[in-house]
Amino acid sequence: MAVAPQPPPEKMMFQLTLRRRGISDQAVLRTMEEVPREAFVEKGDIAYAYRDSALGIECGQTISQPFVVAYMTEQLGLQKQHRVLEIGTGSGYQAAVLSKLCREVVSIERFRTLADTARKRLAKLGYDNVEVILGDGFDLPESLGSFDRIIVTAAMETIPEKLLERLEPGGVLIAPVGPHHGTQTLVRVTRTEAGFDRKELVDVRFVPALPGIAREL
Ligand code: SAH
Repeated sequence: MAVAPQPPPEKMMFQLTLRRRGISDQAVLRTMEEVPREAFVEKGDIAYAYRDSALGIECGQTISQPFVVAYMTEQLGLQKQHRVLEIGTGSGYQAAVLSKLCREVVSIERFRTLADTARKRLAKLGYDNVEVILGDGFDLPESLGSFDRIIVTAAMETIPEKLLERLEPGGVLIAPVGPHHGTQTLVRVTRTEAGFDRKELVDVRFVPALPGIAREL
């Protein structure tokens, strides 16, 4: 009798951990299963790709913890027609997850090495609705226009007004807000007819969002 191929045990645990921690959106869970996190981590960390922890990547940055990626994705409430902005491409993993749940992802990164690596990696893996650009999320080119959803994956001390203005009516932004070194709070802002609704979600730890394109590669 043919036996169906089983995913490696740590990958089965991966799903369980996400469910246990409260992720319930089926599309998000399916996407987390489909996106190969091992393709986004450093070679030496492949064995740890399905652990629920952040890992170091080039330029002293990190690929976020899978639970946080799933949680932020779930909280965004993505729809197929959405155009989404990510600030902080890093490895490109979060962008890959987003891309399967919406129409288009624009992801901006201040390190050239990270932007180039992520762009090539995403293209090779076939995530062809993601555009990775080198730039500063605090100073977005006017030409990028506005977005249905914005996800910031680096810690901001405050959410810039200019960034909120990039949300379409009914749009949602999620960002870790707080001190650069320490714990931040994940904040979800919804653009309503009356203005902006702000809700605090959970505590998180992200690397800082810094202004300008990085001078080192
Ligand atoms: N989402 C990434 C993890 C991001 S780590 C992933 O899935 O792998 C945070 C990233 O934000 C880092 O790569 C950092 O260089 C970048 N970053 C910090 N400040 C930024 C800014 N102002 N504009 C664009 N990217 C920024």
